[in-house]
Amino acid sequence: MSHPLPRRRFLTHAGAAAGWSALLQGTPYNALPLGHGVSASPEMPDRIVDMHVHFDEKNPNFIADLRKLSDRLHLTACVLTPFSYRKVVLDAAKQYPAEIIPFGSVDLDAPDVVKQVEELHAMGYRGLGELEFVKKPYNDPSYFPVYELANRYGWIVLFHTGIVLRRKFDEPEDVASGRMRPIYLEEIARRFPKITVLGAHCGNPEYEWAAEIARWNPNVFFDLSGSTLTKMQARLADFQRIFWWSNTDWQSPEWKVKPADSDPSAFAKIVFGSDTGLGEIESVVKQYHAMFDACAVPQHTRKMIMGGTLAKMLGLSDGH
Ligand SMILES: [Zn+2]
Repeated sequence: MSHPLPRRRFLTHAGAAAGWSALLQGTPYNALPLGHGVSASPEMPDRIVDMHVHFDEKNPNFIADLRKLSDRLHLTACVLTPFSYRKVVLDAAKQYPAEIIPFGSVDLDAPDVVKQVEELHAMGYRGLGELEFVKKPYNDPSYFPVYELANRYGWIVLFHTGIVLRRKFDEPEDVASGRMRPIYLEEIARRFPKITVLGAHCGNPEYEWAAEIARWNPNVFFDLSGSTLTKMQARLADFQRIFWWSNTDWQSPEWKVKPADSDPSAFAKIVFGSDTGLGEIESVVKQYHAMFDACAVPQHTRKMIMGGTLAKMLGLSDGH
């Protein structure tokens, strides 16, 4: 295994620690020590923030393995955590706040889902996701109490969008990708404007709907995890036709309200998400970079996609 990057924990940087302290104010983490007092160097790579790391129940060493990878890639993982593992992951997040951001993967159809969400918030969870395998479309009013809470908390909520795997082949299964179309995220984003709505998989294959909804809604973003970047590897430049509005007057309206924050690239609506085992995250990083090259994504926007946007949303420092 090659180690092209120096093995440095980004929390060792004083600026980063200051940023994290701000983040941790008022959360259950804030009594924890941050960093080891080693100074940063100019070679320190930009922090990658991965929105889409599922907690692996089958790997008893998941947290240790994730920390090793975090060290090597300078990675912060939003760990999507089944409710029954909420304590394990929260404890790890308290211990390693630079590497692990806890997100709660609740079942929207569970009878006590509202209680679960309240509990996750009280524990210090930072958002929800991945929401998936729903029995009704995402915009069904029976799910609104959960969205109301997420709106009150100002949370990020990661929704699976698009095609979904089939687990059983010879038994009936109440799962359908048609309930998880990206178009439903528009209504959630508008009714609950304090939620940051994050769609996984960019609506695969409804990329155009996903992108257009992101364009008109400042609080909607997508990751490109899943099979999309593999499927489109020979035609990655097509993403320029989907995220088409760079440097036009048709940008997302928030860029007119807050010009100082504006990024004229349409690709600013994408964030990094891997949705793979830990061993594959690095290859997804490479796939994102191949897309950046094929679409001539500006350097600043690349940095925002790979971590800057999520760091801002989560109140993390830039890692430098
Ligand atoms: Zn998914």
